[in-house]
Amino acid sequence: MSAPRSGSAQILVVEDEAPIRHLLRTTLEAEGHVVHEARDAQEGRTLAGNRRIDLYLVDLGLPDADGLTLIRQLRTWTQRPILVLSARTEEARKVEALDAGADDFVTKPFGVAELHARLRVALRHARRTARDGATVLRFGDCRIDLDAKTVTRAEQPVRLTATQWRLLEVLCRHAGRVVTSRQLLREVWGPGHGDQAHYLRIYVRQLRQRLEADPAHPAHLTTETGVGYRLSVEPDPPPA
Ligand code: CA
Repeated sequence: MSAPRSGSAQILVVEDEAPIRHLLRTTLEAEGHVVHEARDAQEGRTLAGNRRIDLYLVDLGLPDADGLTLIRQLRTWTQRPILVLSARTEEARKVEALDAGADDFVTKPFGVAELHARLRVALRHARRTARDGATVLRFGDCRIDLDAKTVTRAEQPVRLTATQWRLLEVLCRHAGRVVTSRQLLREVWGPGHGDQAHYLRIYVRQLRQRLEADPAHPAHLTTETGVGYRLSVEPDPPPA
């Protein structure tokens, strides 16, 4: 085995379907990652316990246990990123998995580009929480400075209300990753507003009007149907 490239990670794949495991191994190894395979939750727990894993990819439908249970168990002792592998029809379960501590999901059948994008964001975020966080984010012609609490678009200041800013701030802190509607409502409006999704829709529309070139077809603040929202930002510039 050649020496791992920089940015390479040890990835544990917990998935009972052999063709998907094989596809993941081939795809991830091509990017320089080291892949460990588990066919069920039991094997997953064992490998998680005796390998230094940087990121977990966990299927929700496992033969011996619910993937949700495994995610909750992993979260009792690791803060490493957990991505869920889920079918397109499992929206409610994806939300449960995110609430149980998963960081994001990859929907099967997945595209290779989507898989790598999700992995890059999750690994970058894990590294970033170890250092201090990036405080300036860019997407489209927008620039957001979380420290100064300023937003500019095409170099012009964008004025936001306090609530619009709080919503944008939460999305920025999770940049590149999905945030569930419940989590956004809780973090922006406080506990007790978890079911008032219409607030969220109104404020997301307002942010899109201020930040998106075509608010009806958003390129950056996108909807994850049945789950929540995602703010995609430009990657950090490479280290000097
Ligand atoms: Ca399965």
